[in-house]
Amino acid sequence: MSTVRKPITPKPPRTRVSALVILQEQCKQCELCIAFCPKNVLSIDTSVYNRKGYHPVTATDIEACVNCGFCERICPDMAVFLAERDEAKQAFDAGAMQEGTRIPEFDGSSEAKEGT
Ligand code: SF4
Ligand code: SF4
Repeated sequence: MSTVRKPITPKPPRTRVSALVILQEQCKQCELCIAFCPKNVLSIDTSVYNRKGYHPVTATDIEACVNCGFCERICPDMAVFLAERDEAKQAFDAGAMQEGTRIPEFDGSSEAKEGT
């Protein structure tokens, strides 16, 4: 067995290329996305009811999101997905989003829920 250790090549920090979008009005509080998120980014926002009468999902730690897309794949109602960052920012800045849309890294909703 070789005693020579391989050099470690530092990798650049992983950055999120997409923005997480949550359509809170489409959420039915099934919690599948929460169960499948490997980074514990998501949680139920018990301070909010949507029109269906459910507490929708929110992001409590958007900085931990690694853009894996598990939430998007598992959601049966397409209530959470990853969007191209620049397009999402444009829509957010223009206010061109349907009611109940959250983009946590732009709207600050993740920070607001931290520590609660
Ligand atoms: S993309 Fe991955 S890490 Fe980010 S919220 Fe969804 S499941 Fe969690
Ligand atoms: S999987 Fe979809 S419907 Fe279920 S809690 Fe998550 S966002 Fe809501």
